[in-house]
Amino acid sequence: MTTALPTLDRLNLADATILCRVDFNVPLKGETVVDDTRIRGALPTIRHLTSEGARVVIASHLGRPKGQKNPAMTLLPAAAKLAEHLETDVVFSHDTTGPAVADLVKELEPGGVLVLENLRFHAGEKGNDTGFAKDLAALADGFVNDAFGTMHRSHASITGVAAHLPGAVGLLVQRELEVLGSLIAASGSDNRHPFAAILGGAKVSDKIGVIDALSRRVDHLFIGGAMAYTFLAAEGHAVGESRVEEDKLELALRLLNRCKQRGVKVHLPSDHVVAERFAEDAEAKVVEEIPDGAMGLDIGPQTLSEWSRVLATCNTVFWNGPMGVFEWDSFAAGTRGIAERLAKLEGTTVVGGGDSAAAVAKFGLADQMSHISTGGGASLEFLEHGDLPGLAAIRSA
Ligand code: ADP
Ligand code: MG
Repeated sequence: MTTALPTLDRLNLADATILCRVDFNVPLKGETVVDDTRIRGALPTIRHLTSEGARVVIASHLGRPKGQKNPAMTLLPAAAKLAEHLETDVVFSHDTTGPAVADLVKELEPGGVLVLENLRFHAGEKGNDTGFAKDLAALADGFVNDAFGTMHRSHASITGVAAHLPGAVGLLVQRELEVLGSLIAASGSDNRHPFAAILGGAKVSDKIGVIDALSRRVDHLFIGGAMAYTFLAAEGHAVGESRVEEDKLELALRLLNRCKQRGVKVHLPSDHVVAERFAEDAEAKVVEEIPDGAMGLDIGPQTLSEWSRVLATCNTVFWNGPMGVFEWDSFAAGTRGIAERLAKLEGTTVVGGGDSAAAVAKFGLADQMSHISTGGGASLEFLEHGDLPGLAAIRSA
């Protein structure tokens, strides 16, 4: 990062109107918010803005309405939930931009809050349309981005609008940057070490960039999940019917070689929980060599105990991607075991990724981690590049 990133104290808030981009992309069941974690995550910033006397215009996307109005993806339930948390009335605007919205904004008292309808009902949001960005900017005097999980996207409300208003990042984004930034800080001689990254999940292709970037920092790299089978296959191990990305075999070998050159100890699973079908009720068996016709669906108990022993010596651990199909009980032990090991660790433990965070929450261990990132793709992209389009836009405005 070159120039410093503006934070909330850089904006005039008293009596100003602030457009605040948040991540209210919450799961809905009918008109009920099923999980309000993301709404709670934005509260410190919203409370700060209102307590300083700003009029706050909240903007977010929800789901993938593809540029069309879709009543199943309205932000109205999220606005109601926000009102509940703030214990005040919140105005809801059924549109995102235009004179009628501007009138609603003008009627706000200092400290008042208005929530705009889903930004993605307008095609200009994902298309980063300049006109749409300008219309959003016209509603306010300043811009605050607290939507960390969307900051890797060049959308109108993330990068476009930042060009037209003085901007700052919110408190949630600041915390994410502190934690993730410390993982990739230039100095390698500090008490971060031993530093381990545990990577798993569905696909190698999603995570190549971050594996390469982290291999410049870490002492240990653990590779589990479906991803492990591409690496094992690349090394010539039998992997049966496990998920392998054939077109990534060469790349996997190159990554392994680069790790070796950089002095990173790579750990691949030495035993597996396999099944003959990809099904919740399939019979689970522990094996060291994967037989023909079987697929690896979790790391095995020997792998878990070897990895746990090494992890216990680490001062910093970053974890992204489940070790197996943790959604199914027969294949959840690896992911659960790693989560339990990290929960006991004295050092810093950072979890990133939607499914990894869901797994840690499912095992009731979320509050035992140092930090659970609210960004899946955004956290990985930040670790890879040390910056995000949404941050760069605010910095250069
Ligand atoms: P995150 O959201 O934490 O970044 P991913 O989206 O990359 O994680 O991967 C999560 C998915 O990977 C889970 O749904 C899990 O069931 C699946 N998965 C993990 N291990 C395996 C495996 N061995 N075979 C098939 N799927 C797997
Ligand atoms: Mg995922």
